[in-house]
Amino acid sequence: MNLSVTEAAPLAAESVVRRPSLVGRTRAGLDAALAEIGVPEKERRMRVGQLWNWIYHYGVRDFQEMTTIGKGLRAQLAERFSLDLPEVTAEQVSSDGTRKWLLRMAPTGPRDRGAEIECVYIPEVDRGTLCVSSQVGCTLTCTFCHTGTQRLVRNLTTEEIVAQLMVARDRLGDFPNRSAPDGAFVPNDGGRFVSNIVFMGMGEPLYNFDGVRDAIAVISDDQGLSLGRRRITVSTSGVVPQIEALGAEMGTMLAISLHAVRDDLRNELVPLNKKYPIKDLLDACRNYPGLSNAKRITFEYVMLKGVNDSDAEARELVRLLKGIPAKINLIPFNPWPGTRYECSDWERIERFSEIVFKAGYASPVRTPRGRDILAACGQLKSETEKLSARARLMLEQGEADAAATAH
Ligand code: SAH
Ligand code: SF4
Repeated sequence: MNLSVTEAAPLAAESVVRRPSLVGRTRAGLDAALAEIGVPEKERRMRVGQLWNWIYHYGVRDFQEMTTIGKGLRAQLAERFSLDLPEVTAEQVSSDGTRKWLLRMAPTGPRDRGAEIECVYIPEVDRGTLCVSSQVGCTLTCTFCHTGTQRLVRNLTTEEIVAQLMVARDRLGDFPNRSAPDGAFVPNDGGRFVSNIVFMGMGEPLYNFDGVRDAIAVISDDQGLSLGRRRITVSTSGVVPQIEALGAEMGTMLAISLHAVRDDLRNELVPLNKKYPIKDLLDACRNYPGLSNAKRITFEYVMLKGVNDSDAEARELVRLLKGIPAKINLIPFNPWPGTRYECSDWERIERFSEIVFKAGYASPVRTPRGRDILAACGQLKSETEKLSARARLMLEQGEADAAATAH
């Protein structure tokens, strides 16, 4: 089996000898790094705190800037480690302000050219949401999702998940003492440029439980990146046995990709349903730790023309969710080349949404964002997957076009 997702540029010599980066590491990971270079145990806790502050609070990219750490130790750290972020191989800015970064991960071995993933930033009036990936590809095969047609390469590591937020903050000038680039979204509440994170990029986060859990611990740590767990949403296609642990160990908001109200149809759209049918999934939701009206579950429902979008299905949806503090998110289907589905007509989506709304649910229809740069749900990676090097050129061209049309 060929495991490479994209064709990458020839291996650069330095990629083989690259020093491991400390960016994205947990406290335990930083402690291990210090142990590796011989820092005595009694000193390490304090040093971990210093590194943590420089890396996550200030976002420094050079050990020399860590002025609270003595020169000798800085030099030792620099000799053995780096503060590298994944390489941004393309950055695109959509006409609606959405930004998409194509990131190349550090190679994991001599034969690895570095997996590529995408990460999307969506500015809105009251928030800035970063959509992150948890895996390269996905093992699941939801029929309406383009990621589902791609071959899984691997889970992302904790560091690689955290690094997506680090890249976003870096590119948005969102660290203290760094200025924002022109045209960046400026929050009006004094908050961060990235105020929310959704695990709605590539991959099934609950199949990478430990990696995601540890990344969330780093991201939500109030000494560093400080993104509260209520501002982090993990979206799952319904890995029932892990849902309780998600609530207990990660304490984040939960989103469920429901998409159908009958098992026969959901078996087709989300084949994982054959293993964990709707009833079991909703039972797990009812038992989600911390569930309350202030901490509702989001149910995602992709609008597929003539497939799942009838009035009867809207009413059934409302009936099914009875008793669960819920929000319903209707997602217009984003088509991709070769798909058998179409997006429901706008009037149909409105009618569906009205039924749900009348039953007492806020049912925002998720406005497709970044369509011009293929950054919408289920489109991640599709362009680069197919076209590899040529796509990158086009992405760069797209960036130039977007910059030219930006206000
Ligand atoms: N694997 C997880 C998270 C990533 S998918 C999950 O399935 O929940 C994030 C969301 O995008 C899911 O709700 C998914 O169903 C939706 N999605 C996937 N492909 C889509 C498409 N082509 N159009 C609209 N939404 C899509
Ligand atoms: Fe994987 Fe989610 Fe796409 Fe299904 S919808 S194939 S679980 S990424």
